[in-house]
Amino acid sequence: MTNVISSNLGYPRIGENREWKRALESFWKQEMTEQELLEKTGELRLNNLQKQKELGLELIPVGDVSLYDHVLDTSVMFGVIPERFPYNGGKVNLDTYFAIARGTKDAVASEMTKWFNTNYHYIVPELENAKPEITENRPLAFYKEAKEKLGIDGKPVILGPITFLKLSKGYEEKDFSKLLQAFVPLYIQILKELEAAGATWIQIDEPIFGTNLSEEVIAEARQVYERFNKEAPKLKLILQTYFEHIVHYKSIVDFPVAAIGMDFVHGDSLELIKAHGFPEDKVLAAGIVNGRNVWVSKLEEKLTQLEAIREYVKSGTLIVQPSASLLHVPVTVKSEKNLDPAIKNGLAFADEKIIEIVTLAKGLEEGKQCISRELKENRQQLEQFNRSTDRINEQVRKELEQVDTTDTKRSQPFAERIQKQQDQLKLPFFPTTTIGSLPQTKEVRQTRTQWRKGEITQAQYDQFIKDNIKMWIAIQEDIGLDVLVHGEFERTDMVEYFGEKLNGFDVTTSGWVQSYGSRCVKPPLVFGDVSFRQPMTVKESVYAQSLTDKPVKGMLTGPVTILNWSFVHDDVPRYTVQNQIALALRKEVELLEQNGIQVIQVDEPALREGLPLDKEKWQSYLEAAVYAFRLATSIVQDQTQIHTHMCYSEFNDIFDAIDALDADVISIETSRSHGEIISIFEENTYEKEIGLGVYDIHSPRIPSKDEIKQNITNQLKAISPTKFWINPDCGLKTRNETETIGALKAMIEAVKEIRKEE
Ligand code: GLN
Ligand code: ZN
Repeated sequence: MTNVISSNLGYPRIGENREWKRALESFWKQEMTEQELLEKTGELRLNNLQKQKELGLELIPVGDVSLYDHVLDTSVMFGVIPERFPYNGGKVNLDTYFAIARGTKDAVASEMTKWFNTNYHYIVPELENAKPEITENRPLAFYKEAKEKLGIDGKPVILGPITFLKLSKGYEEKDFSKLLQAFVPLYIQILKELEAAGATWIQIDEPIFGTNLSEEVIAEARQVYERFNKEAPKLKLILQTYFEHIVHYKSIVDFPVAAIGMDFVHGDSLELIKAHGFPEDKVLAAGIVNGRNVWVSKLEEKLTQLEAIREYVKSGTLIVQPSASLLHVPVTVKSEKNLDPAIKNGLAFADEKIIEIVTLAKGLEEGKQCISRELKENRQQLEQFNRSTDRINEQVRKELEQVDTTDTKRSQPFAERIQKQQDQLKLPFFPTTTIGSLPQTKEVRQTRTQWRKGEITQAQYDQFIKDNIKMWIAIQEDIGLDVLVHGEFERTDMVEYFGEKLNGFDVTTSGWVQSYGSRCVKPPLVFGDVSFRQPMTVKESVYAQSLTDKPVKGMLTGPVTILNWSFVHDDVPRYTVQNQIALALRKEVELLEQNGIQVIQVDEPALREGLPLDKEKWQSYLEAAVYAFRLATSIVQDQTQIHTHMCYSEFNDIFDAIDALDADVISIETSRSHGEIISIFEENTYEKEIGLGVYDIHSPRIPSKDEIKQNITNQLKAISPTKFWINPDCGLKTRNETETIGALKAMIEAVKEIRKEE
């Protein structure tokens, strides 16, 4: 008989109605005092714990909460405060904490970057000159709080030392070991204090074990865990991984910990335990319910999988849990009031996932018959979901089957195409353009809200969008840009906009998840086969083009990015859905071209972040991405110019794939790593045209002409002037009019001088 324990890895911080976000933002605007903020978030934290308890969860995570980000919390707990921020020892105050996260007028914020392959961003710890010390035992404080106030004997969640260090910057690889030794005693102290306070289970998150680490690092990690085990022997440590199977499974599974937590949704965990077994003395914590997705689990299937997993667990204890922290999904489906009921039946957010976990744990322990009512309900729910229109679209499936190699290849090589494009577009040397969006002013956002609420008519809204396009075409002509944009005023978000217009998609009203800090995003749902329904961008692009003799770029979001930033059902492989999206975009591309648009940009800012944790899977991921991009874009004639844009510049390891996209022009973000990007292009031959962002749009500061000129001159050292485009770093939607016009004017002035000099 197996003892089965239901558990969770982390709960969404934001609250059912984003109360957490609002509290934080009020505090930042000084509309709320520190005490009020702490009270409000404290209340929310306890509510969330109480809720998990009431849902029947046995092992409840504590300390998974944060006022901004859990990696920053870990840095702060260990006194890792970059020197540019005020700090005099002891517990770090909130002002300093938020200063690191958000910057102040005197000190730039710490870098923020994506948390593995998710759209959650963490604050990168800076270890230069770090003098690690414990400023407060956070997990202990949360453990005690839950116990004293709610009688919950929680499971403290701690970010493990290997992951913490690997995600940090400010040290050289060779110093890893030394640094690790500096942090280990601190971890030990935290653990000892937890042990003394009576804690039992401790979750130590080491998602880095899903990536490719060296044998040396694994050996060091083993020693670290041996010390933890020796120093706090009464604790039951769960070495928790997620997002991927454990790459060095055979070594890591033998670490001296009580339990190993593995993701059974992503990666090949089941194959690994089948091939190599699972230690007899260990508890297995099985991440069986998808923590990265919002769809109802097929409970029967999950139960069968759990039974298969149980075969390999000899210790007598199995923990049933989500595959990852539920941080990555919205709070509860109950908040959705407007969704098609059939689709709603297919959804499970955090609360519903916890119910699934509790049910599965019960079914596994007491037998299937004990959950027969739940299984029946689950079956009915799924049946209703499957009956919703657009779940399956035979036509699209057939079309996709008929795609052949000529459909993913431009008819001529770049060298030939570019001639025809130049003849048609007649662009000057160093053509100038922007990335697509122009200021989304308060007025733009308010008018959209009015339209959504029915306070203004469709015709009024359309006219408003047209007025903005017209105004900005004139401004762009006046500034002297060469390739214009319509400005994307009609879009709230580059993915949601397309989600609303494609078949197979739906959008929620409250499906928010934390992206960074208080910022939340609402990914669209892909609940079925995706297909083209109606032109999505033609009207705006054609209107903009009618106002000017300069070429106007058609602006689309690419298939990889749409897929990555949506919640995609898992009935068919992800790459199939990606290709369905590509096929729909292909029709849009074709329509844009037929309607006289000569330049079409297909943005892929998420291509890089979607890379799998395990490098062995990179190739297939990239091949699929390239295929989908080419399927979406290759239909155009030679003289139509395809652009793409990416919001990052770490290219070294994916250079070939970027090249294989075969976009005629690529624009990339460079403000944060000029040196690096240039060397890539020096080392590799890149034949196509390229625009390296010449100024940083993330800052409200208006750059000077000379500054921009300097940037261009630097970049020209590596890239031939004949291939060179001039553009800002990224879209301008977050900047105001003054900043935008000022910066673009400076950019054009700089280009004029460069043109003269070259
Ligand atoms: N075309 C989009 C814009 O300009 C691109 C945004 C992005 O790269 N994330 O806003
Ligand atoms: Zn960008």
